[in-house]
Amino acid sequence: MNPKMKWSFQVGKIAGTRVKIHLTFVLLLAWVGVSGALNQGIFTAVSSLVLLILIFLCVLLHEFGHVIAALRYGITTPKITLFPFGGVATVSHIPKDPRKELFISFAGPLTNILLAVILLSIRGSAFEWNLAAISKAETTLVDRMIWVNVILAVFNLIPAFPLDGGRIFRALLSFAIDRMKATFFAVRVGQGFAIAGAFIAVFAHQPFLFLIALFLFFAAGSEASMAETEHALEGLTACDASMGEFHTVEMDDTVDLAIKLMLDTSQPDFPVVNHSGQCIAIATRQDLIRTLREKGAEIPVREVVQTLPAMIDLDVPALDAWRKLVDSKLPGAAVVDSHGKLARWLTRENISELILSRTATLEYSHRQV
Ligand SMILES: [Zn+2]
Repeated sequence: MNPKMKWSFQVGKIAGTRVKIHLTFVLLLAWVGVSGALNQGIFTAVSSLVLLILIFLCVLLHEFGHVIAALRYGITTPKITLFPFGGVATVSHIPKDPRKELFISFAGPLTNILLAVILLSIRGSAFEWNLAAISKAETTLVDRMIWVNVILAVFNLIPAFPLDGGRIFRALLSFAIDRMKATFFAVRVGQGFAIAGAFIAVFAHQPFLFLIALFLFFAAGSEASMAETEHALEGLTACDASMGEFHTVEMDDTVDLAIKLMLDTSQPDFPVVNHSGQCIAIATRQDLIRTLREKGAEIPVREVVQTLPAMIDLDVPALDAWRKLVDSKLPGAAVVDSHGKLARWLTRENISELILSRTATLEYSHRQV
């Protein structure tokens, strides 16, 4: 669901938060190291890498600013992903209260502002506010780090989703208009900034800036669809989001029977049930077809199935059920009653259709107002 996250590696865990690095950050490190070593010698390459690692630390502290602010409201942060332009702290949930969102979003840039102030006070003498100094060889590390923190704070305050500034903007809008409308407005503004950034990058011959703009554009889009999903599933349970009419197979049934059922009903994946009506596995279309090709049609289903699908209680919120289904990476999940028996079947298609129909209904009712 979130393809960008597959591009990151875990480097550690701090206070329950997994710290991950995005591939683009690693590529940046490699690029700076290699091009520095080739063009200016090993000493420059090492000092550039030290600078990058310090930037990495500032970004990490920025993210922990968010983490600590979120904890104040009891919201945990399972993971932080670091990108070259900043980090993304994935909080367990984004508070609907705009005041809380404002506080959490602002805590990151505020951390960089505080770091800059601390560095300025360590430095003592008057600081020259001239950005050109950052690339001069004689500029000290402390001065560079002051600039890094200023740039991190300013960049993240740009009102473009998914940057902190975008969230701050959304939170401020939410005081005046409906949160959903505020989200879409903030997303459009964010995408506008991303397009403008991409144009500037092309004219300034800055391929790296172009990639950042491109990433921001798509991240804003996925933010919008996430908000749409949350909005559409609000107030619904796993029972509402799942199918009451579906077919099951048993362990001793043959692959042939399951394939016939698939062709007859167009249901692609089947829950496998035991005699007590409990779901004990999932037979996916992929597994059934593969077995048919490799072992023939007379093989029992028990030799096809590999995994247990997610088990979801009837009354859990639909959004949580959807997350569980997505996390399981399987096409279906079992919705079970209080006795643990399979009551309903949850699939991605089902949820997509529900989201489409709910969104349409909500838009229609908005139009009537
Ligand atoms: Zn931030």
